[in-house]
Amino acid sequence: MPNNFRPESLMMTHAYRPELSEGAIKPPIFQTSTFVFESAEAGKAYFELAYGLRERGQQEESGLIYSRINNPNLEILEDRLCLWDQAEACAVFESGMSAISTVMLCFLRPGDLLLYSRPTYGGTDHFVNHVLREMDIMAVGFGPEDDAETIEGRILESGRADRLRLVYVETPANPTNSLIDLRMMRGIADRFSRADQRVRLAVDNTYMGPLWCSPLEHGADLVLYSATKYIGGHSDLIAGAVLGDRESLAAVRVLRTFLGNMASPHTCWLLLRSLETLKVRMERQQENARHLADYLTGHPLVERVYYLGHLSASSAEGQLFRRQYSGPGAMISFDIRGGEAEAFRFLNALKLVKLAVSLGSTESLVQHPATMTHVGVCPEERARMGITDKLIRLSVGVEHHEDLRADLEAAFMAVSTDSPVEKRAVLG
Ligand SMILES: *Cc1c(COP(=O)(O)O)cnc(C)c1O
Repeated sequence: MPNNFRPESLMMTHAYRPELSEGAIKPPIFQTSTFVFESAEAGKAYFELAYGLRERGQQEESGLIYSRINNPNLEILEDRLCLWDQAEACAVFESGMSAISTVMLCFLRPGDLLLYSRPTYGGTDHFVNHVLREMDIMAVGFGPEDDAETIEGRILESGRADRLRLVYVETPANPTNSLIDLRMMRGIADRFSRADQRVRLAVDNTYMGPLWCSPLEHGADLVLYSATKYIGGHSDLIAGAVLGDRESLAAVRVLRTFLGNMASPHTCWLLLRSLETLKVRMERQQENARHLADYLTGHPLVERVYYLGHLSASSAEGQLFRRQYSGPGAMISFDIRGGEAEAFRFLNALKLVKLAVSLGSTESLVQHPATMTHVGVCPEERARMGITDKLIRLSVGVEHHEDLRADLEAAFMAVSTDSPVEKRAVLG
C-alpha cells in the first residue's frame, strides 16, 4: 500500500492526477468513447500492449484507446478497489452477475467440472445450472454442513475429478449466515490441482467485503463483488468487480473486452464517490446491526436470530468466524413466531425500513426470502437450508438505531394486535 496509508485514507486521492484534469480536485466523468493518440507511433504502442504482443517497458503505462478497453474512471476505480483487498489487479463490470458469469466463462470449458457452494445467489445458481449445463460444464454442489471428505467424495463420484477447474464459494450463505471454511476449500482445490493446472478458488465476498473479510488472505485466487451492494451503497447503481492476481485478471479482462460488459464512466464515477464513505458507512451499519440483533434476540415474537455476532466463541462455527472475519457485518435474519401470515403482517407494518430486495445500502431493507429472493429454490432444498415461511432478512442501514428499533417494535405490535386468534374473537 502506498506510504502505508490505510485504504480509507487513500479513497479520495489514490491513482488520480489532478494536473491531467485542469486541477479538478475530483476526477471528472470521462464521458467519451474514444481517445486521441498523440502520434501514430503512440497508437501502435498502446495496441501492442493491449493485445499482449510484447512485454510492458519499465516505465510504460497503458495508453487510453477506447472506452470498452479502458477509461480513466474505470482505471482509477480499479486501482482504488485493489487497496481494500490488497489485490494485484481488478476488473469492474456493469453488474455483479456479469462479473460472476465472465469469471466462470473465462476459466471453464465444455467437459469441465465446477464445485460450488449452496445456497448461492439466485442468479449465480441459475447461470450454473442452466447456462453452464447446456455447455456441458457440470456442477457439483456442497453446503456449509459438508466436511472436506464429503466434498471430495462428491468430486470423485462426478466422474470428472480430473476436469475440476474452479471452486466457487459464497460465504456467509444468504440468507442464513452459515459459514464456509475458505482454508478447507483451498486445501480441496490444491488436492485436485496438477503441476500444469491450478484449480482456482473464487469467493463471492459481497456479504462481508471488502471490510470484514479478505478472502485473498485465506487462500482465494479471485474475489468477486456485487458492487451494487455495500461498495455502491446507495441503491442507485448496478455494478460488479473481480480482484486477484495479475495473470488471472489479464484473462478476465480480455474476455470482458470482447463481451463488452465493463462498467460505464458514469457508474465508475458514482462508485468512486461511494468508496470515499465506504468504511464509515459499513462501520455504522455494523454497529446498528449489533443493537438490532440484541433487541431481536430477546423479543417474544422472535423464535430464532441468525446473526454472526452471536456465535458462541467456543463452537466450531464461532472459531471459524473469528479466523475468517473481522466483524459480524450488517445482515440479520430471524424467524418470526408463526408463518407467512405473521411475517407479511410484520413486513407490511414497517415504515422506516423499506420492503425491497438487495442489501448493503444506506437505508435499511427487509424482505421475505421464501417468497422473494429464494422462491426459485425447490421447497425441499429451501427447507434443508432453513428458509421457511417465518424467515425474514434484514439489511441494516445507517439510520439512528433507536429509530430502527422503534420501527421494528411498532411492526411487532401490529403482528400481535392483528393476530388471527384475536381477529376471530372480534369477528365473533
Ligand atoms: C446481488 C448479488 C449478486 C448479483 O449482483 P448484481 O449486481 O445484482 O448483478 C451476486 N452475489 C451476491 C451475494 C449478491 O448479493
